[in-house]
Formats: sequence, C-alpha cells, structure tokens
Amino acid sequence: MKNSNNMWHAKGIWLKGNTHTHTTNSDGACTSGETASEYKRHGYDFVFLTDHDKRTVPDETIRKPLLIPAEEIALSYKGYGYHFVCLGLKKEWAAGSCRSPVQVLARARREGVFIVQAHPYWCGLPSHKCVYQGGLTCPGVEVYNKVCDRMIAKGYSSVHWDDLLDAGYRILGFAVDDAHLRSDIAGGWIMVKARNRTPAAILSAIRNGSFYSSQGPEIKSIVIRGREIKITCSPVTRINFITNRASGSSIAAATPRLKEALWTVSKGATYARIELVGASGKMAWSNPIYLSH
Ligand SMILES: [Zn+2]
Ligand SMILES: [Zn+2]
Repeated sequence: MKNSNNMWHAKGIWLKGNTHTHTTNSDGACTSGETASEYKRHGYDFVFLTDHDKRTVPDETIRKPLLIPAEEIALSYKGYGYHFVCLGLKKEWAAGSCRSPVQVLARARREGVFIVQAHPYWCGLPSHKCVYQGGLTCPGVEVYNKVCDRMIAKGYSSVHWDDLLDAGYRILGFAVDDAHLRSDIAGGWIMVKARNRTPAAILSAIRNGSFYSSQGPEIKSIVIRGREIKITCSPVTRINFITNRASGSSIAAATPRLKEALWTVSKGATYARIELVGASGKMAWSNPIYLSH
C-alpha cells in the first residue's frame, strides 16, 4: 500500500461517508429510507449498509446519499469473538459460511472484498489476535466506533492500530457510526477523495487510503518532505504526531486555535500518523504515512 497523502493535491471530489450502518433488515432501528434521510440531513454523500449476515439492497428510488450494499459478519474462533465489515461484496455471505478469520480473508481476496476489522476493543481482542495465520491482517481497522463508545465506552481502538503499525503491518483507520439507533448517526465518518460519486470510485479510493477519519475537525492538507510532515487543519486544541514505540509529539493550546503544525519524524521510525483534537474533544485521524529508513 502506498502513502495516501498525495490525495490532498490529486484531482477528485471530497465525499463524506459512513462504512458501518445497520437497518431494520438486522438489528437497526431505521429502515434504509429513514437511514438515508437522516444521513442526508447531516450532509453525507454515501453510506454502506452493513447489516449482520445480510447484504441489504436499498430501494432504488433513494438517490441521496448513495446507499451501498455491504455486510457485517461475526464469528467465534478459539475463545474470541470477531466482527468483520465487508465492503464491495457482490453477493451475500451467508451466516456461518466462514469459520475462521483466515477463511474470511481468503474469501475476501478471491472476491475482491475489502475487510475492516470492526471494533477490536469492544470485542476484547488483544492486538496480536488481529494478526492471523500466515501473518495476515485486515487492510482496515475501526479506530473509532460510535455505538461501542455509547454502550460500553470501548469505542476507541487506536492502541490496536498502533500496535499493528508498529509491528510493520500497513493498515488503514476508519471512524464509523455502527449506527443502530437514529442517535448514533453522524458520530464518526470518513472523508474520501474520489474520482467521482460512484460506488466503484469510492471503493477504489478507500482501498488506496485516499481518505481520513473525523468526528468534526477537518484536515486541509498534509505535505511530506523526507521525514518532515506539515499538516494544516481547521482550528483545534491539539495536534498529535504518533509513531513507533516511545517517540512522537503533541502540541496543545488552551483554546481551539492551532491551524498547522510541522514535525520531523525521528530516524528509525517506520510510520507516522496524525490525530487532531478539536472543540469538545472531537477528533480526526489521518491515515499512516510510511517512512523509509
Ligand atoms: Zn459488530
Ligand atoms: Zn455493526
């Protein structure tokens, strides 16, 4: 996977979307029509419908936001529960059709499906349990999941993400609603830079890491020169540069007035990612920037 940070200057359009949503077709409270109107109210461009073990195909009269059929599957394996969000599948994956995480990843590879490791903190998974037989990992992980935060205060899986990045795995981070109730909507989203407004272009941008995650703050640009990283953003109170082990940097202000920061990544670090903290603690997350030694 390449660094995704050329996206700031690449041609394309910014689209706001959610990659984890339930409807009344599984345990969600809203129909796909109600889901669409609520997300439309919040300015979303696309929403992946990820009902449990069901590929929900929305009413084709719904035009905005774009509703894209997807699925969430869950399985128990060697004493742990795993949930996987499957984006880009063309047909339904029946309940029980995959018996282990490795079977999920093998099927995804065969069928061109993009898998996100859903809410590992909520699942109670230690980070090393997100690395599967043969050193396989999901290409994405949910760094923030609104419903897991609302229900049991285990919504943030950034330690899992950093453990995997530090070990050399290249994984993209997603903020999601995992919406079950109407009140879960617009808690965390991704901003995708896509070539156009079609499911194929959105999926392609996601695969390429051409997106960042947010609960509110906006990342305006990231410029990388060698090991120097400069970010510009909407006004925030804190800008964190996160990298391997005990290195990194954090800049803070008493009020939301930071609009840029520059940091040189220490030698030996293999990756860096940036977190913003804005008003009321709302966060944003860049995807990782990979560095050569
Ligand atoms: Zn789940
Ligand atoms: Zn879910």
